[in-house]
Amino acid sequence: MPTKTLPTNGRFELMPLPFEPDALEPVISATTIGFHHGKHLLTYVNNLNGLLPGSRFEGLALEDIVRESDGAVFNNAGQILNHNLYFAQFRSPQENNAPKGILAAAIKEQFGSFEAFKEEFEKKGAGLFGSGWVWLSADESRRLVITQESGAGNPVTKGLTPLLTFDVWEHAYYLDYQNRRPAHLAALWQIINWDEIEKRYAPEG
Ligand code: MN
Repeated sequence: MPTKTLPTNGRFELMPLPFEPDALEPVISATTIGFHHGKHLLTYVNNLNGLLPGSRFEGLALEDIVRESDGAVFNNAGQILNHNLYFAQFRSPQENNAPKGILAAAIKEQFGSFEAFKEEFEKKGAGLFGSGWVWLSADESRRLVITQESGAGNPVTKGLTPLLTFDVWEHAYYLDYQNRRPAHLAALWQIINWDEIEKRYAPEG
């Protein structure tokens, strides 16, 4: 099961970025990071904190709120969980960036090759109509699954463990790539921190 994110004194906090705002350039600009983390994510955090007091979700872990809620609570809680996983998965651009170890082996076994996996993942991201997320998750038997989620959707609602995600809301890429969503998705592979993704896949090591 994924880690639980608990509120502090009834409130969720804006996650600190694990990198400097310009660390992902030129793949994602500091300007985009500033708006995406400092404005969009902050708004979801503030919205959820405003909705929790007196509701049946008060005191619950973020992951449980996402599983059990709908409407505005789900939309804001889902977007916080999604963005926490999204921002925590990046590091500065690296050449020939690729997974290692058991996750690399699982990708090769199920998709044929890392290249074939990337192609499938990008296709699902580019083909998602409107705003949403494409996810790589693990099921209970640790098989890998690629899913599309619209809006604030997260694979935890399907009993899956989320590993990797690309945000295809326009706010994630429009300042840097305008309408070229596929070009943005193709560039993201350079900044994936596969050590973090592997921790999500095999937290016990
Ligand atoms: Mn976003």
